Amino acid sequence: MPADPVALARELLRCPSVTPQEGGALSLLENTLSGAGFTVHRLVFSEPGADDVENLYARIGTAGPHLALAGHTDVVPPGDETRWQHPPFAGDIADGVLFGRGAVDMKGAIACQLAAVFDHLAANGGKPKGSISFLITGDEEGIAVNGTVKLLQWAVARGGRFDHCILGEPTNPKQLGDMVKIGRRGSLNGTLIVTGTPGHVAYPALADNPVRRIVTIMAAVMAEPLDAGSTHFDPSNLEFTSVDVGNKTVNVIPAEARARFNIRFNDHHTQSSLKTLVAARADAAAQGEHFRIEWDPSNADVFLTKPGPFVELVSCAIAEVTGRQPELSTSGGTSDARFIKDYCPVVEFGLVNATMHKIDENVATDDLVALTAMYRRILDRYFACGLSP
Ligand SMILES: [Zn+2]
Repeated sequence: MPADPVALARELLRCPSVTPQEGGALSLLENTLSGAGFTVHRLVFSEPGADDVENLYARIGTAGPHLALAGHTDVVPPGDETRWQHPPFAGDIADGVLFGRGAVDMKGAIACQLAAVFDHLAANGGKPKGSISFLITGDEEGIAVNGTVKLLQWAVARGGRFDHCILGEPTNPKQLGDMVKIGRRGSLNGTLIVTGTPGHVAYPALADNPVRRIVTIMAAVMAEPLDAGSTHFDPSNLEFTSVDVGNKTVNVIPAEARARFNIRFNDHHTQSSLKTLVAARADAAAQGEHFRIEWDPSNADVFLTKPGPFVELVSCAIAEVTGRQPELSTSGGTSDARFIKDYCPVVEFGLVNATMHKIDENVATDDLVALTAMYRRILDRYFACGLSP
């Protein structure tokens, strides 16, 4: 009897694990994985000013190669539950579709990872030809300071070493097998601040309006593209997200103007090269007038897992099941892969992302069965070929 990803996904969906609540999801995984011979560790991480968050690390085998399967059991809040046709934490199945918060992002994929691993182990005498571990966090949808980043540090401090990792984020735009993510753009936030001299609007000569200057500087910063894209990435993009003066009067020239922006950047840039570039554009437009840029700290650097034997193994395993070669992409927002890439090559592949974070988030039960088959192929190929890092 093959392991049943649908039953497992249903049980996971019934755990109300909105970040930072564990909701019973990690306990369920702990029981299931220890029953299959994994050594399981439950870990709570803390950070001043942030909620404590529970995480789980489980490993079977001691030898290499070591394949890590990563994911998160926390989910975003359901919003207004009365707007859901199927309650967000009931695990309803209707017409072959499983509903619930986290169905695709990403409890469904975790259920498939487990089912695939159990089937692989059952076919191989209960032990992998190497090691398999699960890195499961409860802090992905939040600020992500007490999750994967610390889980990896903890595992490595205990002598752990990973050769490759598959993160089960929902990567497919329309159909299962559309897309594997082999990298992500970086993200950087900044605020442009221009100070002037406040005064009466009827006497502009006695004041210095910061709104005039911020508009000029913003236009200069946005005027040219940051680059034209690279082999594996779309062009980098700078987007102003808010322009604020906060002036409640109609006849006072304000003292200060602020504009917030976000940059999604590709492998032509680093955080520091971008800071230099944006400051130079602003400087040229400011013509000696005062302005400043404040940068938020960012833990979201750009990364790319270069196409090679590992990416090929994953793509071919997927194509064997779907009959189509998946697109290799670096699109979308950031994910925990940005932390994993510091330890080993990582690719992302999971369910169809069309309903993630939406009302009535759902997954076709056929997709759960098919994704399990794809993960199973990946495991079979990985441990058959002894892929070196
Ligand atoms: Zn996710």
